[in-house]
Amino acid sequence: MNKSINSILIANRGEIACRVIRSCKKLGIRSIAVYSKADRNAQHVKLADQAVFIGAASAAESYLDINKIIQAAKNSNADAIHPGYGFLSENADFARQLENEGLVFIGPSATVLALMASKAAAKSAMEKASVACVPGYHGELQDDKTLIEAAGQVGYPLLIKASAGGGGKGMRIAHSSAEFEEALAATRREALRAFADDQVILERYIENPRHIEVQVFADQQGNVVHLYERDCSSQRRYQKVIEETPAPNLDKTIRNAMFTAAVEAAAAVKYSGAGTIEFILAETGDFWFMEMNTRLQVEHPVTEMLTGIDLVEWQIRVAAGDALPLSQEEIKANGHAIEVRLYAEDPDNGFLPAAGLIKTLVQPDNTSSTRFDSGIIGGDRITVHYDPMIAKLIVHAENRNTAIDRIREALTMTWVDGLSNNLDFLQRLLSSRPFVEGTINTAWIDQNLSELLIHQDTARELMLAAAAVLMQQDWQAAQAPASPWNTTDNWRMGKTSDRRVLLEYKGETHAIHASGTAGNYTITTGSAEKPSSISCQLERSSSNRFYFSAGIDKQNFERVLYCHGSRFCLVAATQRTSFTRLGWQSATDHALIGSGKIIAPMPGNIIEIKVRAGDSVNKGDVLVIMEAMKMELSLRAEISGEIISVIDQSTGFVNADTLLVELEATKA
Ligand code: ADP
Repeated sequence: MNKSINSILIANRGEIACRVIRSCKKLGIRSIAVYSKADRNAQHVKLADQAVFIGAASAAESYLDINKIIQAAKNSNADAIHPGYGFLSENADFARQLENEGLVFIGPSATVLALMASKAAAKSAMEKASVACVPGYHGELQDDKTLIEAAGQVGYPLLIKASAGGGGKGMRIAHSSAEFEEALAATRREALRAFADDQVILERYIENPRHIEVQVFADQQGNVVHLYERDCSSQRRYQKVIEETPAPNLDKTIRNAMFTAAVEAAAAVKYSGAGTIEFILAETGDFWFMEMNTRLQVEHPVTEMLTGIDLVEWQIRVAAGDALPLSQEEIKANGHAIEVRLYAEDPDNGFLPAAGLIKTLVQPDNTSSTRFDSGIIGGDRITVHYDPMIAKLIVHAENRNTAIDRIREALTMTWVDGLSNNLDFLQRLLSSRPFVEGTINTAWIDQNLSELLIHQDTARELMLAAAAVLMQQDWQAAQAPASPWNTTDNWRMGKTSDRRVLLEYKGETHAIHASGTAGNYTITTGSAEKPSSISCQLERSSSNRFYFSAGIDKQNFERVLYCHGSRFCLVAATQRTSFTRLGWQSATDHALIGSGKIIAPMPGNIIEIKVRAGDSVNKGDVLVIMEAMKMELSLRAEISGEIISVIDQSTGFVNADTLLVELEATKA
């Protein structure tokens, strides 16, 4: 008997809540969001038809509180609950309580959830169904003696896993029997703390494997299909970074064997809904069942792009009692899809998660081949209470090479300002040889981290940055030549004059001397011995993205410049340079520029000239006071020296760039 689902409460937040709400809208189903105190203004709350407050910011007091979620569902007359991923999505107690309350849980039965929540029980069930599991021990006896003996039989290196573990937590390698006991104790402690259960399983540690998983779908009538595989071998510390489908360089026979095993595994446990069977593939070509995830995966969009199927829609239909909409033969795979996970974290600082305000978020447009799944927009916050994922970027193309080009391009169309993030790390990973060649294994990133953290030629990037901000300013001036706003800096249209650019990069101020206009600049940086000529060509611009190419000494550089107020980011194929352009105020307060020429940074009135020719001054002394834009500016000596010339005291108004004082450096 089909149940009718007219309203769904989404027991989750962030991008996945938004994702589920989108399918509800498409299907004409009323969506109900829940939110914690930290999420009052979150996007999922705005997007849903209705939103229910469920408590304090900590997940335990809100998104993980079963009673509050059930109460919210009852109060809002929800027919069903979609758990998303994480939080309560794999919680058998939750599913059972919903069953008792007459609410539909959009997922498999509580019995299957309970079975698969334990890696040990899941492996036993799979062995019964004749699905090959990673060789190891997953027995109930957990005393040290039994485990030490079992470890000896499994052989080294081996992996100790928390049976209740997930998300890459609660796993340790023991390379030899000497390491085993300590690793066991540590895994047990971590398992108890994170999952309130210290049962462990032992597995042979497979060297340099690939992680290939199969998306399965089953209905309550007993039909089971697969929706092809996903390759999630790009991992850092057992956590997925890039996912794609189809898996590159995967032998056809192995691939088909995986599909068969996955469908058999799901059928064996009477699965229903969306599920994922994870396999580990050894270099030998052997593959084994690792675990089953009984929910929608983070990386489900690549499968959606490949098959054109809305997985959330299928989940809802199956939960309502409908049969699967398509048979195995009708499910087609087209082209190639890749997803990257964009995180607020600092790759240069051990990938430390970042929390705070996302000041600006520029994203590629959503199209049929590019998808940006996010639960935040510029002005939102990443809080310490939840996962620091900012968004998922997914692309589709007719083949893998085009998909790689497309996702790289889409990454250069993305700018996140305000928090550390892994955008440039992702750019480098997508350009790394093993990724491009489709041979990456789960150990590669950790083993080659230093290569992925390689740093740029800062001096060159800052030179390009300076030229880029001048080009952007010239371009803006050219758009509205009459606007006084375009002449408020130390520069005027059509005149080659001294132009200074003060950039703050990683907490340090860089004073850059420049001259030139309209794309052709001569730039001198503190570290360079001689000036460099840079010719910039603005190729196109869209909103606050400026695509340009720049030539320095016969070398050509393609860059994208982003700007928002005084914040900028220069984006190259595998690196980004984020900086602040300091304004004239800081420029005048900064005694850093090192020039003997004090020029009016903007048009204004001379209020006072404090020196006369022949005076000796020290770096930092105030030489001239101007009034401009209703503010007083103190222009200071940038070097110590002797005053050579001074503008006439009676000069009232001066234009920008007017030479006011000239001084000669004190001879050593
Ligand atoms: P979790 O449930 O925490 O996600 P999994 O069992 O799915 O843990 O494993 C996560 C990752 O750990 C895998 O994708 C793989 O990279 C690595 N891994 C798991 N088991 C093994 C193994 N036996 N040998 C080598 N690597 C493994």
